[in-house]
Amino acid sequence: MSYIQDVLAQVERRNPGEPEFLQAAREVLETLEPVMARHATYQKARILERLVEPERQLMFRVPWQDDAGEVQVNRGFRIEVSSAIGPYKGGLRFHPSVNLSILKFLGFEQVFKNALTTLPMGGGKGGSDFDPKGKSDNEVMRFCQSFMSELFRHIGENTDVPAGDIGVGGREVGFLFGQYKRLRNEFTGVLTGKGLGWGGSLIRPEATGYGAVYFAEEMLKTRNESMAGKVCTVSGSGNVAQYTVEKLLQLGAKPVSLSDSGGTVYDPKGLNEEKLAWVMDLKNVRRGRIQEYVARWGGEFHSGATPWAIPCECAFPSATQNEITGTDARTLLKHGCKLISEGANMPSTPAAVDQFVSAKVLYGPGKAANAGGVATSGLEMCQNSMRLSWTRDEVDARLREIMVNIHAVCHRTAATYGQPGNYVLGANIAGFVKVADAMLAQGLV
Ligand code: NDP
Repeated sequence: MSYIQDVLAQVERRNPGEPEFLQAAREVLETLEPVMARHATYQKARILERLVEPERQLMFRVPWQDDAGEVQVNRGFRIEVSSAIGPYKGGLRFHPSVNLSILKFLGFEQVFKNALTTLPMGGGKGGSDFDPKGKSDNEVMRFCQSFMSELFRHIGENTDVPAGDIGVGGREVGFLFGQYKRLRNEFTGVLTGKGLGWGGSLIRPEATGYGAVYFAEEMLKTRNESMAGKVCTVSGSGNVAQYTVEKLLQLGAKPVSLSDSGGTVYDPKGLNEEKLAWVMDLKNVRRGRIQEYVARWGGEFHSGATPWAIPCECAFPSATQNEITGTDARTLLKHGCKLISEGANMPSTPAAVDQFVSAKVLYGPGKAANAGGVATSGLEMCQNSMRLSWTRDEVDARLREIMVNIHAVCHRTAATYGQPGNYVLGANIAGFVKVADAMLAQGLV
């Protein structure tokens, strides 16, 4: 067995019942063979064995009271994976599916993603199995206050800086920040994704979606093509999906779908600014279901389905992990899909990734394509430290430059290691080398 397979076998033994974490570890480690072969020091220093073991894992009880006066108990987590190149940084996810495996996979991915941004950020992830869906604002506030009443002692602007993710948007970040400020008696940039009037950054809400489209544009440029006129499928209808659609429209592409856990809306005429504004109100204010789109704007609703059977040239998975199966990948390729840019984290199963890579379509893995969100969080931290705010155009220009650079480093690294166009390999190796070199320099920590 090769060294990497040995490490993976050990990860499997040590982390039983954690399929998502094992999937993420395997996906990264298996692409690192060429770099391990060239740099014996990484193996000698046991960099891989250290990286698959988070620096710290916190699990805690979150009791709170619902509107009926009943006591509810949820589980809270914060996984601090690596602080080799900066304070732990990564979002909080509130969703009933949240467990240790999912947060360890997200935290592990985050380490390499953050390294790719070139900003000084380590990697972590956290959250809870709390479901904000169907809860009143007061219930969400009481939950967030209880969650932060434990988390506050583990985080800080120079230690660990959480942000939003699934189920954690502006409302939740506000409640979490308020409780942190009250407990610590200090106003610092301890969370990103804050409101504009109290330390937030322009373009942070847009950043992940915009970044995934900027990354797609860069991939298309390598084949002398552009986004203009491209028919695009988008999954999800939350933060990432909404701003992916906004940027696609600005670049003259034709987004034709959105989805949520109830199913997919297919609008063959394409979304436009007016329809998108309506979706944003539906999802962010009225907190309704995407199915309602069809009654207002027409098109088809495919109950319980994902968008991958809809013919498209470009696909933007922006909902959740493992949402594109091997069968979906085959269907996408059969319909002539030539680009996949992952707004979501690990949305493609290993079988789907294999097909995209061997078909040599433009496949931008999440840790590169969706790094715009955390990059702009890094810019928010920077503005907080300086106590000033950059303009919208300034932040957007920096975001775009970062995405162009991430694309360039992935593209270059893939070529250097003999697999030109393989962005999976390029992203994993480029992110890994930066973290591994920092670990070597810092000794056995
Ligand atoms: P939101 O909570 O704003 O939206 C999530 C969307 O995905 C909703 O439409 C939701 O539908 C759908 N969804 C979630 N879970 C499932 C599921 N199991 N099956 C089907 N649909 C589902 O989250 P975000 O837009 O912030 O995040 C989306 C993805 O992007 C996640 O993978 C996240 O990790 C990733 N990401 C987000 C970043 C950010 O800045 N927000 C940064 C980088 C990556 P429903 O409401 O019905 O659950």
